[in-house]
Amino acid sequence: MATLGLPGEGIGLNYHLGLFRQVFENNMQCETPDQWITEKSWLTPTDISYDVSFNGFSLRSKLYDIDVSGYGGKSIKLRLFDIVPVDESIVHDGIQFNKRDILHNLTLFLYPDDSDENGRKLRIYQQYFMVSNAAQLILDEAAKKGCTLHDLSEYAVIQINDTHPSMIIPELIRLLTEKGIDFDEACDIVTNVCAYTNHTILAEALEKWHIGCLEDVVPQLVPIIRKLDERVRQKYPDDRTAIIDSSGLVHMAHMDIHYGFSINGVAALHTEILKNSELKPFYEIYPEKFNNKTNGIAFRRWLMHCNRPLTALISSIIGDGFRKDAFELEKLLVYKDDENVKNELLRIKSDAKKVCKEFVLSNTGIDIDENSIFDIQIKRLHEYKRQQLNALYIIYKYLDIRSGNIPKTPITFIFGAKAAPAYIIAKDIIHLLLTLQGLINSDPEVSRHMRVVMVENYNVSAAEKLIPACDISEQISLASKEASGTGNMKLMLNGALTLGTMDGANVEIRELVGEDNIYIFGRSSGEVIDAYANGSYNARELYNSNETLRKCVDFMIGNELLSIRSGERLYRLHNELVSKDWFMTFPDFDDYVKTKERMLSDYTDRDRWAEKMIVNIAKAGYFSSDRTISEYNNDIWKLN
Ligand SMILES: *Cc1c(COP(=O)(O)O)cnc(C)c1O
Repeated sequence: MATLGLPGEGIGLNYHLGLFRQVFENNMQCETPDQWITEKSWLTPTDISYDVSFNGFSLRSKLYDIDVSGYGGKSIKLRLFDIVPVDESIVHDGIQFNKRDILHNLTLFLYPDDSDENGRKLRIYQQYFMVSNAAQLILDEAAKKGCTLHDLSEYAVIQINDTHPSMIIPELIRLLTEKGIDFDEACDIVTNVCAYTNHTILAEALEKWHIGCLEDVVPQLVPIIRKLDERVRQKYPDDRTAIIDSSGLVHMAHMDIHYGFSINGVAALHTEILKNSELKPFYEIYPEKFNNKTNGIAFRRWLMHCNRPLTALISSIIGDGFRKDAFELEKLLVYKDDENVKNELLRIKSDAKKVCKEFVLSNTGIDIDENSIFDIQIKRLHEYKRQQLNALYIIYKYLDIRSGNIPKTPITFIFGAKAAPAYIIAKDIIHLLLTLQGLINSDPEVSRHMRVVMVENYNVSAAEKLIPACDISEQISLASKEASGTGNMKLMLNGALTLGTMDGANVEIRELVGEDNIYIFGRSSGEVIDAYANGSYNARELYNSNETLRKCVDFMIGNELLSIRSGERLYRLHNELVSKDWFMTFPDFDDYVKTKERMLSDYTDRDRWAEKMIVNIAKAGYFSSDRTISEYNNDIWKLN
């Protein structure tokens, strides 16, 4: 928005201890506070302050701003609300704290553990604090410009980014009616101001708060939410589109769709799945509200900032226009058969791997081979992203090498991933990866041909070090489950080739680069959605019938991992896969192995590989967030 000169700002909370800092102990993830606010932090205190009421008490906010710079010297603000009495000293034993001490814990952590009732209430406290401050700030700023409230939609548009800020809808209605506007008009005003972006189709990630929970924390919103639900039920008597369901759960996304003027998905496939299956009953009511905005990345960060040598090479070939207009990267296509360009590109990748080797050494103490193939999977740890499928391949490769099949080029498997602190199976998968790392790297024979490293505390700074060095970008989510992905875009921009399923933005990457320049495997989203619908998938059947697969799965609980493993974690993970495998790793296993083997063998043709790298870099311009944000502006916000 800053680069495009759009008058906008971001609103959030000033989390003192961030998400968490990940440390590995005994091959397991432990969480510690991330003390990111230092003397040199970019927070600027302001005099802006509001009262926010909860059940029986109120909190006074304080606003801090961070300047966000765009390209060419323009900047906008990120506005972060906080409370003065928040107290970092109540945190103990890693990231534990009293979840009911709202006065001192409100802005300690992003995404506090919501596996119990007190954690869920804390999330509601955080969300309401954010949106009540936001609503007051927006109404004040609009009033200063001459807004009468009736014409609010001419002064403001609010992009509800996932369902966390959804309470802005009832909160704005509450404030407008308090200022004398009648309820029906307040609903119309808010519907013309709010637009909603959906970021996931995982049912368990779509927020649903129990009405009783809301009553306990923000009782002033409950009569409004009930009225919003009644209005919807009168017009559309279909239970599937109600806001409050029969068990008293408030579906935040449903409220956003009824009381917003736009709903978008974040990649073409994702938006189609929303329209045709996940949100079909809503699409039938409001076809005109649905639209797609394929995600983009801050490509100057992910090219000019993190990969100066590649940037310099591109500049020397096609000039500097791509720095402002990422589509100009397409000019590189002309050079895809140019031997000089290809050699330079391979040299830059090879240098980046040497730099990355130093980073990995300082982060993990593990010495990796800079001449090996860098196969990288970096993203949050989640079962649907299927790090476990990559782990099964690693076991397959380990057994294959031990049986005498030596790969033509050594391979380094690099992971980076944080698991949500209460997500047990995700932590079990981290344990498996760290255990494999220990076993394989200390095997004097096998470690000459393959190594495994899991980088500690994967974050943006680590990503900037890893991405320029990647050869193979692992984008292997179960088709239909990854809304978009953006790691896939950052990696292609840096000349990595994608090994992926037909999921999220991988579909658009394939369309752009063509099937010769990407490695696609696995079941399609349609097949997966059907398999869920008719319950036809049986993990144990496949486990019993596929001997290679079974050997790899059983390796997890075999003697070799015995000395370094937690039996409890590995048995639980083994059982989870064999008895359920909810994200269908087994059906994709054979095709994954086959496609990855083909990719590893293609790597030896360095000339042809470099040509594919050029096509990927040249076509990555589409994924600049400049393109995404101008689409949001042209289709939704219409600023200036
Ligand atoms: C880009 C990025 C992500 C998102 O990665 P996906 O592969 O799209 O899930 C996650 N974490 C960090 C640190 C990133 O930079």
